[in-house]
Amino acid sequence: MNSSLTQPLARYSKQTLLIDADDTLWENNIYFERAIASFISFLDHKVHTVEQVREHLNLCERATIAAHGYGVESFRRSLIDCFEQLTESTITAERHAQILSFTDAIASNEIELLPGVGETLEELSRRHRLIMVTKGNQIEQTDKLERSGLRPWFSAVEVLAEKNVPAYRALIAAHQCDCGSTWMIGNSPKSDINPALAAGINAVFIPHDFTWVLEHEMVDAPPGSEQLMELGSFRELIGYF
Ligand SMILES: [Mg+2]
Repeated sequence: MNSSLTQPLARYSKQTLLIDADDTLWENNIYFERAIASFISFLDHKVHTVEQVREHLNLCERATIAAHGYGVESFRRSLIDCFEQLTESTITAERHAQILSFTDAIASNEIELLPGVGETLEELSRRHRLIMVTKGNQIEQTDKLERSGLRPWFSAVEVLAEKNVPAYRALIAAHQCDCGSTWMIGNSPKSDINPALAAGINAVFIPHDFTWVLEHEMVDAPPGSEQLMELGSFRELIGYF
């Protein structure tokens, strides 16, 4: 393969790369999808279709996240709420335990890195400042990072309660980022791309086939002089940075 054909003449030098984790560095949402599939067959609702149950679970998840934040514990709570609301009954201890068992694999899974992530981060870390920027539960996210073996490539790690415009502005200030040479890299238009562009930094969108439905949104055009790039895989970053 002649890589010079696909690479730009010069790479960006000495940039600050803010990098999302779930479904950008490693698989995440597929484990939740498996738990949801098990939950829906267990519920085996006689009136609502699979799509309707899923729709109701999305509502429960939005409510739980608003009250308790992101993370596996919130997800468990959403499944229980959904079960109780759709069956109009209080759940038995046995069924409660059964539903929770569907989520066991989420926290205990081996971290499954997306293709090329390890070597790409290692190379990028030699030329740029890398900061992991994820949202969710602090303990769960830092535990995943430790288990991933990727911690050495990051100069800092930020676990945010929400990835919105004020959160990005605070991050930019805290790490003294120069907006023109700072990029947010991730799979979610809603959390990674649109708020980063709105906060005045550049963005690299790397779509994942199984992005969480609550993260679905159209990618906005940059509001000003910010740059927006879309890549097919994480390892393609090497061609540009
Ligand atoms: Mg993500």
